[in-house]
Amino acid sequence: MTEKIYEALGRASSLLEEKGLEPHAAQMLMEFITKKSRATLFADVREPLTEQQHEQFWAKATELLEGRPVQYVIGEESFYGYPFKVDNSVLIPRPETEELVYGALERGRKLFPNKLITVADIGTGSGAIAVSFKKEWPESSVTATDISEGALTIARHNAMTNGADIDFRQGDLTAPIAHEKWDIVLSNPPYIAHAEAELMSGAVLDHEPHNALFAEEDGLYFYRKLAEDLPALMNKSFLIAVEIGYLQGPAVHKLFQEAFPTALVETVKDINGKDRIIFCETCE
Ligand code: SAM
Ligand code: GLN
Repeated sequence: MTEKIYEALGRASSLLEEKGLEPHAAQMLMEFITKKSRATLFADVREPLTEQQHEQFWAKATELLEGRPVQYVIGEESFYGYPFKVDNSVLIPRPETEELVYGALERGRKLFPNKLITVADIGTGSGAIAVSFKKEWPESSVTATDISEGALTIARHNAMTNGADIDFRQGDLTAPIAHEKWDIVLSNPPYIAHAEAELMSGAVLDHEPHNALFAEEDGLYFYRKLAEDLPALMNKSFLIAVEIGYLQGPAVHKLFQEAFPTALVETVKDINGKDRIIFCETCE
């Protein structure tokens, strides 16, 4: 006899909790294995799992108990309402980054009422920013770059499954986009200082790609390079949006204001009240 849904769920949640891991991961795994939404899962908790579901659930629960993030275990994360395949060659897209996409769309629509715009996403990872932007603004022409070929393979897959036509290019920072001018540049670059590693959770530090997380110069390296390169690459009317670490607001604000002396530069907080995005745009 296999366990019922609620029995397997209860047992896996307790085992995770005992190890100091996130118990909610068991529910996400169960939704994935049974292909049920959260609502139907709770309506059906007394159903027994099939042999195959039971076996799959506990094989993957073992990976959760080893500390692997649930998104890598099930191979998927949702971002801006769209499904994204993820594996350990890409950062798991974060909800804070959805706020960057939302803010860029809102500001972009005011700045570019003609809609036919060129957009670049630097360091696209899973393609989360580029794909969701393109889906929300279909008339835009979107280019996405990454230094990692592994990340680009996943991003291309996500663009295809979501039906987003995107030009992917491999290379270092602005190199792949340096021969054109852009209306909008978006980036969530690596920004964690190496010294912060000891404060990070094992789920992130032991499983996510370090070249997506860490940056030299106290985490500011990529912003310095972007502030240096982007002035030559932006059209007259432009918008730049970069995600930042919660302590980096003043430093990154200063870098962009110095690079674009006449632009409007704003630091925007995330839903948790932490500095999270710098917007830099043409000032009318
Ligand atoms: N944009 C995705 C997101 O928001 O979920 C991923 C962001 S992740 C923090 C940073 C990405 O930058 C990684 O995919 C990494 O491979 C890429 N990257 C690191 N160094 C780079 C470089 N020198 N040039 C271009 N991309 C780089
Ligand atoms: N927000 C991510 C984290 O805290 C870091 C992403 C990044 O470096 N851009 O794990």
